[in-house]
Amino acid sequence: MKKIVRVGNISIGGGKPVVVQGMVKTPPSDVKTASWINSMADAGCRLVRIAVPNAVEASFLGGLRKKVKVPLVADIHFDWKLAVTAAAAGIDKIRINPSNIGSVRKVREVADVCRERGIPIRVGANSGSVKTLNKGDSPKVKARKLFSAVQKEVGVLEKARFYNIVVSAKAEDVETTIEVNRLLNKLPYPLHMGVTATGLPRDGIIKSSLALGILLREGIGDTIRVSLLADPIMEVKVAYSILSDIGLTKRKINFIACPTCGRCRVNLKAILDEIYGKFPDADMPSEKTLNVAVMGCEVNGPGEARNADLGIAFTGEKAVYFEKGKIVKTLSRASAVKFITAKIKNGVRS
Ligand code: SF4
Repeated sequence: MKKIVRVGNISIGGGKPVVVQGMVKTPPSDVKTASWINSMADAGCRLVRIAVPNAVEASFLGGLRKKVKVPLVADIHFDWKLAVTAAAAGIDKIRINPSNIGSVRKVREVADVCRERGIPIRVGANSGSVKTLNKGDSPKVKARKLFSAVQKEVGVLEKARFYNIVVSAKAEDVETTIEVNRLLNKLPYPLHMGVTATGLPRDGIIKSSLALGILLREGIGDTIRVSLLADPIMEVKVAYSILSDIGLTKRKINFIACPTCGRCRVNLKAILDEIYGKFPDADMPSEKTLNVAVMGCEVNGPGEARNADLGIAFTGEKAVYFEKGKIVKTLSRASAVKFITAKIKNGVRS
């Protein structure tokens, strides 16, 4: 069992449910940063990491922390003094990168300040900054090198009698990510997981789903972040989708929609976008899931959606409403979206 680490009001490790993290994309000084962080929190993000690139930005952390409703993780590279400033500003966790923070003395100084304030440190290596990695290294070799970088830094912290640690190592490819997290899972500290530098959302979602899905199914991982070149709220939604699709959480509404074929006579994507747009919290965790089918025709619609709680199948000018796979009512196409939206609202409430 992993050690439990407290980050503000959040507990990670020790068999607790997997925590979804995110990273805000604006710096502490940006006037929009607090509002981004609070929107991420509203989408279910329970810890938000923020880059602290220099001393000027670090000076904004204290004010920012007071405006946001989730614990903040200060992401520090190169300058250990920024970590000290962030800790003094009331930040909830510090992330340092073993490859660029510098000497053992500097890491110990950060550990001393964090110990005094009860702030955990995440030792987070990534494939872009660990200098021992070579082009052509196999995923297994890359994973071992990343693991060694983390292990070395953890050793420095342990020698300083600092054990309030979270570990992570991120690579840009699925195989290395899986291998290194299997290695890190042997350490007694909670494990944060993610794939880094994933590219456009399409690629990032596939890579993150594969790597995190496989690891989580093996029971590995205490916190996750989906990194996407996209809105940070989308990252949070994808993270919850991964957790719910492998059965670790339930999402509020699960939309089931057919891919369409030559039988479909409506713009099903536009219809689903319109319905989905009315439920921005559909992906958020919930006690129960409402399964909603939106299908392109009456031939296979109810049958394919047999397991749905309710749904609609478009037949051209008409739309068939069904519950539990049984046809209940026929509507005009024009009234169908409004009707199903009301039914979903009722279903979510009941
Ligand atoms: S539900 Fe109808 S339109 Fe959709 S894929 Fe199946 S047959 Fe085609």
